[in-house]
Amino acid sequence: MAWVYEFSEGSKDQKDLLGGKGANLAEMTNLGLPVPPGFTISTETCRAYLALQESGEGGEPDGLAEEVTEHLERLESAMGRRLGDAGDPLLVSVRSGAKFSMPGMMETVLNVGLNDESVGGLAARSSDERFALDSYRRLLQMFGQTVLHVDGELFAEALDETKRALGTESDLDLGADDLRALVERFKAIIEEETGDEFPQDPREQMDLAIRAVFESWNTDRARLYRRQERIPEDLGTAVNVQAMVFGNFGMDSGSGVAFTRDPASGEQGVYGDYLQNAQGEDVVAGIRNTVTLADMAEIDRRSHDDLLDIMTRLERHYRDMCDIEFTVERGKLWMLQTRVGKRTPEAAFRIAVHMVDEGLIQMDEAVLRVTGDQLAQLMFPRFDATSERTLLAQGMNASPGAAVGRCVFDSDTAVEWAARGEDVILVRKETNPDDLRGMVAARGILTSRGGKTSHAAVVARGMGRTCVCGAESLDVDTKAKEFRVRDGETVREGDVISIDGTTGEVFAGAVPVADSVVVRHFEGEKLDDDLAHAVARIMAHADGARRLRVRTNADTPEDAARARRFGAQGIGLCRTEHMFLGERRELVEKLIVAEDEAGVEGALAALLPLQRQDFTEILEAMDGLPVTIRLLDPPLHEFLPDLTDLSVEVALAEERGQVDQRAATLLTHVRRLHEQNPMLGLRGVRLGIQIPGLFLMQARAMAEAAADRMAVHGTPRPEIMVPLVASVRELEIVRADIERVIAEVEEDRGIKLDIAIGTMIELPRAAFLADRIAKRADFFSFGTNDLTQMAWGFSRDDVESSFFSRYFEHGIFDVSPFESLDQRGVGGMVEMGTTKGRETKPDLKVGVCGEHGGDPRSVHFFDDVGLNYVSCSPFRVPVARLEAGRSVL
Ligand code: PEP
Ligand code: MG
Repeated sequence: MAWVYEFSEGSKDQKDLLGGKGANLAEMTNLGLPVPPGFTISTETCRAYLALQESGEGGEPDGLAEEVTEHLERLESAMGRRLGDAGDPLLVSVRSGAKFSMPGMMETVLNVGLNDESVGGLAARSSDERFALDSYRRLLQMFGQTVLHVDGELFAEALDETKRALGTESDLDLGADDLRALVERFKAIIEEETGDEFPQDPREQMDLAIRAVFESWNTDRARLYRRQERIPEDLGTAVNVQAMVFGNFGMDSGSGVAFTRDPASGEQGVYGDYLQNAQGEDVVAGIRNTVTLADMAEIDRRSHDDLLDIMTRLERHYRDMCDIEFTVERGKLWMLQTRVGKRTPEAAFRIAVHMVDEGLIQMDEAVLRVTGDQLAQLMFPRFDATSERTLLAQGMNASPGAAVGRCVFDSDTAVEWAARGEDVILVRKETNPDDLRGMVAARGILTSRGGKTSHAAVVARGMGRTCVCGAESLDVDTKAKEFRVRDGETVREGDVISIDGTTGEVFAGAVPVADSVVVRHFEGEKLDDDLAHAVARIMAHADGARRLRVRTNADTPEDAARARRFGAQGIGLCRTEHMFLGERRELVEKLIVAEDEAGVEGALAALLPLQRQDFTEILEAMDGLPVTIRLLDPPLHEFLPDLTDLSVEVALAEERGQVDQRAATLLTHVRRLHEQNPMLGLRGVRLGIQIPGLFLMQARAMAEAAADRMAVHGTPRPEIMVPLVASVRELEIVRADIERVIAEVEEDRGIKLDIAIGTMIELPRAAFLADRIAKRADFFSFGTNDLTQMAWGFSRDDVESSFFSRYFEHGIFDVSPFESLDQRGVGGMVEMGTTKGRETKPDLKVGVCGEHGGDPRSVHFFDDVGLNYVSCSPFRVPVARLEAGRSVL
């Protein structure tokens, strides 16, 4: 296996080995597009290099230096120049390129090969001394910062000082003498800071730059980004060494970034930013304002037309929206990068369906190109356009959504305020990779500079954060922690603003939000809207393909009805706990403190009609579809006053010499029922065994509700579910009672009821003994919330805000196991429980009703394991439908 590959040796399918950038450079090279020649050092080399550093051995993988030499020689002969040659130097760029794009996270060094002598050679060849010196100063700056770890501020400050002395703000106003002085200053900074001179040997520069790229894989910001984007830690980056072409050769040169369709809306038609007399970094950094591709056509028609031709070819070849980096050097177009472009959720749906209509892809593929997470984002509310609003500024719609929050001007404050539960908007002139922490913490990002391809825009879109960029009328002062609006108004840290990432508008104060079009579509509204049409077509195809059924967790008729409109095929979990709160709490209290059988009977009799009404309404909303009603689960003391509060109340009353008999009696019961570990205490089936009347009342209410629905020609399909079963005996006991009650109702009403009785599997013991439990269960539903809690021994109410951040840092898991199923551990129990249950009953219906039922990754797992259905909250139903479709395609 080689360490190094020519561009012509690779293809777009080799991202594992060559990284995304390298693989696509190879693909473009082989398509015959104008790509500056070069080679890629593989990700495998990076892993081998980092392993050597970690083991303390140091050095480089064996044979790497020789291979680099061989490929460099080939590059030199192709270009007819030698690296850093004093008379006519070949210069190269050294760029990172991991398998998954990590914009701005890792290092790039341009103009490698320049030194005190070759700068003269470059000046001679280009007949432009200023340009050569500017290139050298860029090398010193980038190399100093990224390879030698000199504080970048020192260079920026020196550059600013020079500009101040000249009374200008633009780099373009620096003359050759200014740049010559700046080069000396930069070299001095490097020597002062590192104790060594800037390396003059071109090959040494290149080797050091390659190592720096490898090492940049492990910087804090790169690690944070990977965690955020769930990119594995052990991939490593490839390094691309490529002949330099120059966009800063004068006004007939330039650099740009383009998309083959609008990455924000998905609208057809090319989209891009171009900057004359600039290198690529200048475009992305948003340092100067760019022009559109249409304007570029005015500046350089031929390069523009070539670019558009190539964009069409790329889109047809990749059969997807591509993003592109290009450079024009003295009127000649060069392609520096392409990849399948990142896009907003709206663009993803629209582009997928448009491409089906254009005959580029099939519907199956369109469904695979969108995700449940994207759909979930589209269901977020947007600003209500009919409400009163004060527009502060108009920027670019970089990443959609409606975000309201307090302004903060730096990452530390963003993180700190967000940690205490505040919604914040991070406001910056422009962002750089060091702002990532703040962007993660913020609801939205607002910048005053940079286009849709700026760092802020690209990263925000990737993370699904709302972002407005390039709001140029805002004068942002991050030191003073405020920004000024054109009319003179000042917005300070802590002031609330609203930003609309879909329109680019920035509003004062908190603007009310309205439903998304996608939600309105799911609600059944007929809309003439391209996005709604695209979503409808994708959902129809996913529904046609999926095997897994999707139910909902709902315990009110309203939620049930909404979930049904969203496509739910029944209720997988109707929790009954909330039905005992509010005014009914008193009845439960009576039940608990009842002195005798008659007291118990009285309380239950009062609860029965209320509960029957609850069930009747829900069965009506889900008429014809299965409704799994779970018997009461939580610890009884949750229905009683707090032990400490009540103790204080009684003690105070006693001190005043008053006796409140009711409170005193209640206190006895609260003490009796108080538990140190209520989650492991008297709840679920245990409650049913301890106070049988409670479950029986619920079963009777359900049977009677079903009978009532049948009496009005409804089609009720109730199922009774017993929670927290660990032993088949527990289920046997309550089942016998429930069956008796159902038989009584059947007899009373003279009808036949068909009510399945099943159990939740939410304790490890139940999963292990599922074959035995299945003997008494008509169905299983995995309660993966409790199963996760019990399997890890994590309190589901406490741990996420406690020590999980440490667990993420250490890579123990990359997402909370309460959010996305721990497939190996908890998932192993789900798989085992299903298999064992079906050993006893081959046709056993098995579902899941924990939060994981609406989590995309988990849905795929449940499909693979062969569950019959997932059940999730109403808003997650479309997400689960889509993912269940994607799982089989
Ligand atoms: C579960 O434990 O996964 C479950 C659905 O029940 P609850 O969340 O009500 O405990
Ligand atoms: Mg549970």
